[in-house]
Amino acid sequence: MKLDTTWIETWMGASAAAIAENKALLNHLDREIGDGDHGENMDRGLTAVVPALAALPDDATPAAALRSVAMTLISTVGGASGPLYGTAFLKAAEPLGDGPELDGTVVVAMLTAARDGIVSRGKAESGDKTMVDAWTPAVDAARAAAAEGASPGAILDSAAAAAEAGAVATEPMVARKGRASYLGERSAGHRDPGAQSTAIILRAAATVAGDD
Ligand code: ADP
Ligand code: MG
Repeated sequence: MKLDTTWIETWMGASAAAIAENKALLNHLDREIGDGDHGENMDRGLTAVVPALAALPDDATPAAALRSVAMTLISTVGGASGPLYGTAFLKAAEPLGDGPELDGTVVVAMLTAARDGIVSRGKAESGDKTMVDAWTPAVDAARAAAAEGASPGAILDSAAAAAEAGAVATEPMVARKGRASYLGERSAGHRDPGAQSTAIILRAAATVAGDD
């Protein structure tokens, strides 16, 4: 489908469904290295995002839709991840301007701005075992796909695949940020829940976009 406001609404609907389906997994991952609430937090947030988007005026721009997602996540998710995802979606809106549709260049800029927002808010570096370890490979893969002339849908597909691999790659890492860092070396051997939820949300973006 074309990447317009309807795409964002459909993406968030698919994200809400996928997070609900993976709520127990995300809670489980967070129970291993945190406090066990990441699935709960994200499910509460995405469940609130869907009606908030539906309440937007018919002529809302994609950027306005992303800002709505951000505000809803900030006010409902809580924990460390709420402000981080909120900042991500708020920053993601900026490169869209008032445009009605995203092309490949804007998709890359959107993902980059989201990642940069998370890094500036949470100060995590690559390898710290956080959601950044899913976002940064996603941005790099999106940029590489765009440089090869991939369609917006194919760019998102590359980003999602890299985020999935990035989430798996957090398993051996020792956490240096967030609650998991309190465990030190004992955080190794478990996948980071925020990296996993990032992979789920980016996969939903790609699936809904399809081949366009
Ligand atoms: P809390 O840790 O407050 O319970 P959540 O369980 O909802 O919040 O979210 C935990 C996730 O947040 C972690 O798995 C990690 O991906 C992410 N996270 C925590 N701190 C940071 C940080 N400083 N930078 C980036 N991501 C972080
Ligand atoms: Mg938690």
